[in-house]
Amino acid sequence: MSASAPGRPHPAAPASRALAGARPRTFWLDPDVVGHDVPEAAPALEGAERAELAVVGGGFSGLWSALIAKERDPGRDVVLLEARTAGWAASGRNGGFCAASLTHGHGNGAERWPEEIAELERLGRQNLDAIEDTLRRHGIDCEFERTGELAVATEPWQVDDLADTAAALRGLGQRVRTLTGAQTRALVDSPTYLGGLLDPDGVAMVHPAKLVWGLREACLRLGVRIYENSPVRGIRREHGGLRLQLRTGSVLAERVAWGSGAFPGPLRRIRHYVAPVYDYALVTEPLTAEQLASIGWQGRQGLSDSGNRFHYYRLTADNRVLWGGYDVVYHYGGRVRPAYDQNPETFHRLAGNFFATFPQLEGLSFTHSWGGVIDTSSRFCAFFGTAFGGRLAYAAGYTGLGVGATRFGAQVMLDRLDGADTERTRLKLVRSRPVPFPPEPLRYAGIELTKRSLAAADRNGGRRNLWLRTLDAVGMGIDS
Ligand SMILES: Cc1cc2nc3c(=O)[nH]c(=O)nc-3n(C[C@H](O)[C@H](O)[C@H](O)COP(=O)(O)OP(=O)(O)OC[C@H]3O[C@@H](n4cnc5c(N)ncnc54)[C@H](O)[C@@H]3O)c2cc1C
Repeated sequence: MSASAPGRPHPAAPASRALAGARPRTFWLDPDVVGHDVPEAAPALEGAERAELAVVGGGFSGLWSALIAKERDPGRDVVLLEARTAGWAASGRNGGFCAASLTHGHGNGAERWPEEIAELERLGRQNLDAIEDTLRRHGIDCEFERTGELAVATEPWQVDDLADTAAALRGLGQRVRTLTGAQTRALVDSPTYLGGLLDPDGVAMVHPAKLVWGLREACLRLGVRIYENSPVRGIRREHGGLRLQLRTGSVLAERVAWGSGAFPGPLRRIRHYVAPVYDYALVTEPLTAEQLASIGWQGRQGLSDSGNRFHYYRLTADNRVLWGGYDVVYHYGGRVRPAYDQNPETFHRLAGNFFATFPQLEGLSFTHSWGGVIDTSSRFCAFFGTAFGGRLAYAAGYTGLGVGATRFGAQVMLDRLDGADTERTRLKLVRSRPVPFPPEPLRYAGIELTKRSLAAADRNGGRRNLWLRTLDAVGMGIDS
């Protein structure tokens, strides 16, 4: 998307100044900000253990799996194994948009599963309601604010797209509203806004790290044995279940729920379906009352603009602005390195677009800059499967919208491990698979070509070139 109005240069000088003091770390995980909320690491696994259910991964996928397993059957013996510490990866460093959508937005879901989109939207709303209920029942304070989402159009073609989306959602009984430019700017004031689509309750804002830590604590209270700094290196069948092999120990588990995000590790079969793609975010210093008044934003909605390359942004509990997205970066061979968490070029672009969107905030500084990997699948939402004769279930590929959907994915994994035939397991979404990514060098070339084509579409009134139309035709098209 072009956040700057046509012809308006990105204000590079204020961007550089604003970034000068930004700490290269995730705002949500910064101990100087969250202080005593950061939990002490659980011990690493040593020796041989047994469990009825072993959960691999201490992100949202794993934590929801362990928690729901215990809630379904409090007597079940559950172990959770995390390679580092819970929430260090995507789950602790995302934008904190906890969305009802299970399909990375209505457009993507309706395109792929038109016959079940109504059911998917209903299940997604139920899932978000259930998350809210879980937070209440377990006393998890993660700054949950069900403020909804405001999608804004910054180019004329996006106004039409938002109107189409609104009509489709209203057809499914949802209470969304289209807004004119003036109505949009009355909610949140940017000179770039030409229109908007307000979904008043389909998205909640959360502090993602506090959500991780709250779920982790709830799991511990219910008796889940959590081991951190405990990467699983191998899986093998054994009498009585699956042996998960670690460097200093092992777990013999009757069943395994695998939620490893963008890191397939020893579960080789999901490597073809997941590409680790970097996404980046900035956080500003807290806005003063005057600065906040200059943009309005009384409803504290999560915002996103509507190009193929889009920003997502929101207020934190202490009225900073989190501003992320737009650039996505894939490294050849799917390389993931700590050094890639920082990307000065992207941070400058993001900061420039921020001041183009909110020129009234010139002079504001960014305090944090970071990135993280997204487990991208070619259908832009999760896929599900089983391995080892049904003893292991996995869910991955959430592609940037997994904060809420991972709870649904956890239920799917547990349904499958229990051999249960449910409304969820009957879904085409759950039974079908994405198109696998090709091997390198085609994978890298394909992702780069797609990125360039999406940027070109944003410059050309949304018109998709031959490459994007071909991807659409083979089921790999992205519709933001
Ligand atoms: C910058 C950024 C912004 C985002 N913004 C949003 C947003 O606003 N809204 C939204 O819905 N989504 C967003 N996302 C995506 C969202 O964060 C993810 O979809 C979600 O957190 C995925 O959770 P997960 O548990 O599947 O994966 P992860 O959080 O990656 O967790 C996987 C865990 O498994 C562990 N693991 C992996 N392999 C092993 C192994 N072999 N043994 C033991 N442990 C292992 C890892 O160490 C890791 O902790 C964003 C992501 C990023 C990076």
